Amino acid sequence: MALLHIAEPGQSSAPHQHKLAAGIDLGTTNSLVATVRSGQVETLPDEADRHLLPSVVYYGKTAVLVGNPALEYSLTDPHNTVVSVKRMMGRGLADMQNNQQFHSYRFAQNDSAVPRIITQAGEVSAIEVSAQILATLKQRAVATLGGELDGVVITVPAYFDDAQRQATKDAAKLAGLNVLRLLNEPTAAAVAYGLDAGNDGVIAVYDLGGGTFDISILRLNKGVFEVLATGGDSALGGDDFDQAIGNWILAEAGLDKLATHAANPVLIRSVLQHARRAKESLAQQPQTDINIEIEGLHWQGCLTRERMQALILPLVKNTLLACRRVMRDAKITNDDINEVIMVGGSTRTLLVREKVGEFFACEPLTSIDPDRVVATGAALQADVLVGNKPDDSLLLLDVIPLSLGIETMGGLAEKIIHRNTVIPVAKAQDFTTYKDGQTAMAIHVVQGERELVDDCRSLARFELRGIPPQVAGAARIRVTFQVDADGLLIVSAKERNSGVEASVDVKPSYGLTDNEIETMLKASMDYARDDMLQRSLREQQVDARRTLEALDAALAKDGDELLSAAEKDSIMQARQYLLDNIDNNDAESIKAAIKQLESDCEAYVARRMNSNIRHVMQGHSINEYSENKE
Ligand code: ADP
Ligand code: MG
Repeated sequence: MALLHIAEPGQSSAPHQHKLAAGIDLGTTNSLVATVRSGQVETLPDEADRHLLPSVVYYGKTAVLVGNPALEYSLTDPHNTVVSVKRMMGRGLADMQNNQQFHSYRFAQNDSAVPRIITQAGEVSAIEVSAQILATLKQRAVATLGGELDGVVITVPAYFDDAQRQATKDAAKLAGLNVLRLLNEPTAAAVAYGLDAGNDGVIAVYDLGGGTFDISILRLNKGVFEVLATGGDSALGGDDFDQAIGNWILAEAGLDKLATHAANPVLIRSVLQHARRAKESLAQQPQTDINIEIEGLHWQGCLTRERMQALILPLVKNTLLACRRVMRDAKITNDDINEVIMVGGSTRTLLVREKVGEFFACEPLTSIDPDRVVATGAALQADVLVGNKPDDSLLLLDVIPLSLGIETMGGLAEKIIHRNTVIPVAKAQDFTTYKDGQTAMAIHVVQGERELVDDCRSLARFELRGIPPQVAGAARIRVTFQVDADGLLIVSAKERNSGVEASVDVKPSYGLTDNEIETMLKASMDYARDDMLQRSLREQQVDARRTLEALDAALAKDGDELLSAAEKDSIMQARQYLLDNIDNNDAESIKAAIKQLESDCEAYVARRMNSNIRHVMQGHSINEYSENKE
């Protein structure tokens, strides 16, 4: 049932030649790398047998530390320790400066496209920080596999946009990795469970990590995973469980909440560490002892599973609210869902499993370690893409989350590639000039479902120049949209008569959050009717202006020669009537006015055509004319 086979250039599979490939889960809190060896997927540990690499980088005076050793510095030296760098990928400076979660960093104030964090080891961008994490995982893989990697698959959230995906690819390049494909995290989880080889159906992926919650609804249809909807909360995760438990510890010890101890980072860090350890051990045992011995806090106590569940219940309920929203967006109910996959360390919490099972009214899939499930799917995919599998293995295809198109006259968005189109894809559409003698064209690339450009997201602008001057509508400009397998877009425009062309790689400087995508999609549904009316209004207005311009040009040329005074008078009246109606926001009345003007001009148009033909044929034989025309 494979849909399309795509061999990467130079990577068609040669028999008996095993290539080294790995899958990388580049997470907000933790990252890890996995590979397929002797048909089995395994995640690769460090020397201390730890599989998870904390996604933390410390920029020291003399050394850069990645992972566990860097973690120590995240509270004592926050300026120089970058945590949760994934949240910064593909974002612009203004975006980050206005966002509280990045306030512990100092940003360089320059106009570079990629914002840079000032550390004692120099300025670093989010791409460079991610590259450090990737390089550490790469080393781990090379050491275990005993050779350089031929290629990797890196996972990204389903809602990552072009800029965030591009930033991830750039980081991989910087780390010296050959990226075979970026894969959506929920899709990777579904692959890990082998669902891609199963029956078509709807799958929910519930991913609760350290600081983020993502819920995705996928539909598997003939080997293609389609993202029906994504949602979640980018500020809700296991860290919030730790906070709730930490506040309870402080209350038991007779102290105020964590937030009041900002001046004492050691106390905060210590309490949170104990809270986290207690939480994690309660996945196995019904109660756990806590023993904190630091300056200002000596406390010993016992946390039961019941107590912890009461503390985190409101947070778990919040995730279920997001699940309800996303199901509404995807227009599905519990009955439509065939499988629910649990992803992320926080889904080890028994209460989470229980509540999610109740909510979806089915037993969630938990047999694969929720920390490793995404890396596992990525490794399986990498193994196929690098060419270690027989040719009939499925290649996964992803889809475009929001439609892509260009701006046309009247501020309308013309969609060229529609939402949910399977990538990679290339589509072309012909456009033409609006004015006589027009030699350049401004091409504005937009993304979104709405009809008006103002309601869509602007991705890029470029110009096609050097179009030979022709009458309006004669030029044929072919605009081609190409989206590669990673979801990156290239737009090109070519004038077909002259061959002039221009193109742009779309790398927008701002990322869209999942909430923004959600909002845009929702708006497109809410406003669908309004949008259609707006579109037809704008189309009529453009039509009206074009008719008026053509008429004025014609009148200036031969109006007096071809029209009687009375005829001209009635045309001018119809012209004025159209002018009066053009801005009154009623498509029907504009349409009627255009019709009126056209009917008043009928005789004039016929006379002009005759006079033109006479003009063209003067001095030529009829035969010659028809030959030239061909
Ligand atoms: P991310 O996808 O954001 O990188 P992870 O999937 O690695 O994050 O999840 C990290 C979170 O999982 C942390 O909050 C951690 O405390 C939590 N976690 C790990 N093990 C357990 C456990 N046994 N019980 C509860 N939570 C756990
Ligand atoms: Mg994760």
